[in-house]
Amino acid sequence: MTDKIKLGISACLLGEQVRYDGGHKWDRFLTETLGKYVEFVPVCPEVECGLGVPREAMRLVGDPEHPRLVTVRSGIDHTERMLQWARTRVAELEKEGLCGFIFKSGSPSSGMERVKVYGPTGMPAKTGVGLFARAFMEHFPLLPVEDEGRLHDPALRENFIEAIFTLERWREMLAQNGGRHALVDFHTRHKLLLRAHSLEHLRQLGKLVAEAVHLPVPELCDRYQHLLLEALRRKTTARKNTDVLYHLMGYFKGNLSHDEKQELRDLIDLYRRGLLPLIVPVTLINHYVRKYDEPYLKGQWYLNPHPLELQLRNHV
Ligand code: SF4
Repeated sequence: MTDKIKLGISACLLGEQVRYDGGHKWDRFLTETLGKYVEFVPVCPEVECGLGVPREAMRLVGDPEHPRLVTVRSGIDHTERMLQWARTRVAELEKEGLCGFIFKSGSPSSGMERVKVYGPTGMPAKTGVGLFARAFMEHFPLLPVEDEGRLHDPALRENFIEAIFTLERWREMLAQNGGRHALVDFHTRHKLLLRAHSLEHLRQLGKLVAEAVHLPVPELCDRYQHLLLEALRRKTTARKNTDVLYHLMGYFKGNLSHDEKQELRDLIDLYRRGLLPLIVPVTLINHYVRKYDEPYLKGQWYLNPHPLELQLRNHV
């Protein structure tokens, strides 16, 4: 890829001292590891909508679907101020070409799920969404989003990062104006990656690509992007990856000895049972791809979806 991936992020996760108490929530993995490949676009809704640092802490109260953003001690309602600012800010963010957003978990402004909402009894239910996070997700409904808490889960982390790298490749393809030919090539190289997310979406995308010559390019790209983003939201699982690995193994039917096939089958099975990480069978398959010079597989992003340095498949 030529450019760094642009990713929105809650500013406090970068170490910016924007929290209500003047502190931050610096996340080392995001800044020091993922940050090598990503250009972050920081957003602090509470500071940007005009509340200072330090400020009184806030929480969500009332109807979980339409909560109010209210200060904890003095009960000042900042809902309208926040909603008005959020509408303008999400429109501005369109120009940034973001491939996703990482939210701060639990925040009444930035939390993307399970934010506490206080009802009349004063007891909180973890059913809310922060006001800015909701505005963002409504404006960009299919864009990959996660919060830093969920990103500690290796499987969710791998899924999210794979999605943003794939979206960046898609955007680069569009920027190069390659038309139908480039789209078909993109699809061909992502077939196995898509299969690991959703066989159903792979079929629908295949059908769309087969009709490509009959569709105007802008309509083709719009429809493809919609299905692509939907597919990437379906999480990969050990079962889906196992299916892809066996499918890959099929390409070497004529090349591998009986023992080599058995060894690969054993590794795939150990992965399926959670006894080995995905990187192990993938590394052996990559070795066979190089050894037998298999051109179709050499082009498959599934085998190298993101930089090895991120070690994402060492833990799933
Ligand atoms: S959670 Fe959101 S509103 Fe709160 S400090 Fe972080 S970026 Fe700002």
